[in-house]
Amino acid sequence: MEEKKETKNFIREIIDKDLETGKYEGRVHTRFPPEPNGYLHIGHAKSICLNFGLAKDYSGKCNLRMDDTNPEKEDIEYVNSIQDNIKWLGFNWNGETLFASDYYDKLYDHAIALIKKGKAYVCDLSQEKVREYRGTVKAPGKNSPNRDRSIEENLDLFMRMKNGEFADGAKTLRAKIDMTSQHMIMRDPPLYRIKRYDHFRTGSKWCIYPMYDFAHCLSDSAEGITHSICTMEFENNRVLYDWVLDALELYHPQQIEFARLNLSYTVLSKRKLLTLVNDKHVSGWDDPRMPTLSGLRRRGYTPEAIRIFCDKIGVARFNSIIDVVLLENSIREQLNKEVLRVMGVLEPLKVVITNYPEDKEETVEAINNPEDENGGTRKVPFSRELYIEREDFKIDPPKKFFRLSPGKEVRLRYAYYVTCTDVLTDDKTGEITEIHCTYDPATKGGDSPDGRKVKATLHWVSAKHAYKCKVRLYDHLFIKRDPNEVEEGKDFISNLNPNSLQMIDNAFLEPSIKDALPGTRYQFERKGYFFVDPVDSKPGQPVFNRVASLRDSWAKIEQSQ
Ligand code: ATP
Ligand code: MG
Repeated sequence: MEEKKETKNFIREIIDKDLETGKYEGRVHTRFPPEPNGYLHIGHAKSICLNFGLAKDYSGKCNLRMDDTNPEKEDIEYVNSIQDNIKWLGFNWNGETLFASDYYDKLYDHAIALIKKGKAYVCDLSQEKVREYRGTVKAPGKNSPNRDRSIEENLDLFMRMKNGEFADGAKTLRAKIDMTSQHMIMRDPPLYRIKRYDHFRTGSKWCIYPMYDFAHCLSDSAEGITHSICTMEFENNRVLYDWVLDALELYHPQQIEFARLNLSYTVLSKRKLLTLVNDKHVSGWDDPRMPTLSGLRRRGYTPEAIRIFCDKIGVARFNSIIDVVLLENSIREQLNKEVLRVMGVLEPLKVVITNYPEDKEETVEAINNPEDENGGTRKVPFSRELYIEREDFKIDPPKKFFRLSPGKEVRLRYAYYVTCTDVLTDDKTGEITEIHCTYDPATKGGDSPDGRKVKATLHWVSAKHAYKCKVRLYDHLFIKRDPNEVEEGKDFISNLNPNSLQMIDNAFLEPSIKDALPGTRYQFERKGYFFVDPVDSKPGQPVFNRVASLRDSWAKIEQSQ
């Protein structure tokens, strides 16, 4: 807990105060309450890190509860993915996974109790009429004609709702609060609706389902949650939660709201993410471009990087859009220190070293990771024919282009200085097909004994030793920083980035990682951090996802050499 003091946020201050005053007998009990209607995204990670982090730091508990009150949208697939993602992030919940649906009997009893207290009634108004009677922020609402039904009649009707005597939507159970309240949510909100839809856990047992607001506060109360942490949009609901618990004379958790995470160039709404999946704009919930935890995981993100990101952004009560670069930096920082650096050419251009003997082969020694003093070295084969990156050569170089061009000398990383002597092009297309260079044998290892300087160091692979593989490069899924900003008449889909995925079928990698195992991460020198895709890779045929580019780190090296 010591190290957390510096980053103490307002929630921790509230908890500290509660511990001081003994408000909850020294207990800290939080929960993470997803609705199992989609996969978790990076916004949920913020909430998970917060809730589980508080429980851990205060030696408390954190429940995992599925708020499953809407059977039409929920599914066991989502429950499984949620559990899996939370474990992957590195957290364990208290006891078994809990479900609001486990409390359906109890919730029904609570509804009966409210009716008996004269605090709930069965209403016959259609959804449309309910809306009409509710009034507006400026105008008070009107009482339902059924508001003053007797307790007996309400008990009878509610039981018959449960027994399936009425059509879907024909009646609701509503709290009897105040149709003139300035809080719209207090204008006799519905507590139960009739909906004939099999629930993924309770099957056809129920044809009435509790509303989210009713189930949520009662579930928190039943679980003895001390600090019920949620996002700002639930601030308005707090008065209702308090009313329900007061009316039933039940234990009160303290609700604390914080601002939800918004991330630039992506959307974090399950409904929108579901649209992307259903309409096949992405390959699935785990498409590496998705901001879901499954997507980030498949892209190559580590749980540590996500936890560090969540810690860095902190919690506050005002909404803002966090720059996605912050997320990318968290994985860069980790992988920069930890993973093996190898050479891979994504868009190959053939180089022939004309003064290098045709049948000669040798190995050069490459450093595995200069950031890791125990990282060691490895041998990389070198021969007369190589591949370099197509973009590292220009026939007609602009002024500040220091890489290879006719007559220029550059360093091949760990190998030799080479000078371009000739360029071969395709007669028809004019495309560069091959370049010829000479090498200076005295520069083996990449250093010149006469102190001659070159301005660029290129990565390369030996053509006959390299192996061909597939690489996928990703860009932001959306072209706009805030994809929710749309032109009139269009929706967020119009902001999709058509170039968010680039497939490369013919990348060439150094042979040392031919047998790279799925789930392994590498840095390809100058090209970024890559992850062996666990789904699409086959033995001996890895498929690499780019986790993140390197940004400018190589630019600095170029300048310093
Ligand atoms: P969505 O708006 O994507 O449908 P939701 O809030 O309906 O999300 P839930 O499954 O209800 O999704 O969320 C579970 C918990 O995660 C809630 O406590 C919610 O407040 C929190 N949460 C959801 N989205 C974010 C976010 N972007 N940032 C922080 N917390 C979030
Ligand atoms: Mg929700």
